[in-house]
Amino acid sequence: GRRPFIAGNWKENPDTLEAAIDLAKVVSTASSSASNVDVAVVVPFPFLVPVKETLKGSNVLIGAQDLYTEDKGAYTGATSLPMIKSVGAQWVLCGHSERRALFGDTDETVNAKLKKVLAAGLKAILCIGETKDEYELGVNKLICGLQLAKGLKGVTKEQMENVAIAYEPVWAIGTGLTATPEIAQDVHSNIRAILGEAYGQAVADKVVIQYGGSVTPETVDELMAMPDIDGALVGGASLVGEKFARIINFK
Ligand code: 13P
Repeated sequence: GRRPFIAGNWKENPDTLEAAIDLAKVVSTASSSASNVDVAVVVPFPFLVPVKETLKGSNVLIGAQDLYTEDKGAYTGATSLPMIKSVGAQWVLCGHSERRALFGDTDETVNAKLKKVLAAGLKAILCIGETKDEYELGVNKLICGLQLAKGLKGVTKEQMENVAIAYEPVWAIGTGLTATPEIAQDVHSNIRAILGEAYGQAVADKVVIQYGGSVTPETVDELMAMPDIDGALVGGASLVGEKFARIINFK
């Protein structure tokens, strides 16, 4: 079986170091009762080091939300993968829909970022998902299949051990409109089928596929009960200590 993996994507939150450390302390405590699940917090760059320090002694993993593909140089404002690696992050998000919509990430740059992460031996969460228009046109699986194929271009079977997929329908992010477990399961099983064709069923069966989009303490249990939903990528609810605590202790 696949080990469940729940990650909190803090996005551009919280707004002070003090609040970040407070939140990390709650996650650290909550993770001690969450056995049988991998837990990560994916935090803004300035908080990677202090949050990692706060989480010392817990099992909580730490991730970055993006990277720039050049290792070093005259790229003002950019953060490289070697920097991220050197401060001890284990996971990096690639292709979050907010990076795609607001910061110009394309399937091609997402693919380059993902390969950068994997080449360095870190783990990547490849985020995919359709917009509301695409969902209403009934092409959600088509869009996800395209983003998946383009995002994973050139990624080897062996490297797939370090890849998780997050299905995040854009219409469900921050809207309170969680995809129903049935909708999410339908897309997740399609993602696994595509991975099976590309890499073989044995590899596909091992890939963790997270669902993201308005995951809350109220919706997590029924989502996690679906056979191909192996985890969650949690935004808003990961910023409220007691909510994230309940989510990682899903039933
Ligand atoms: P919300 O949980 O706030 O909908 O955000 C989901 C998300 O984008 C996680 O990456």
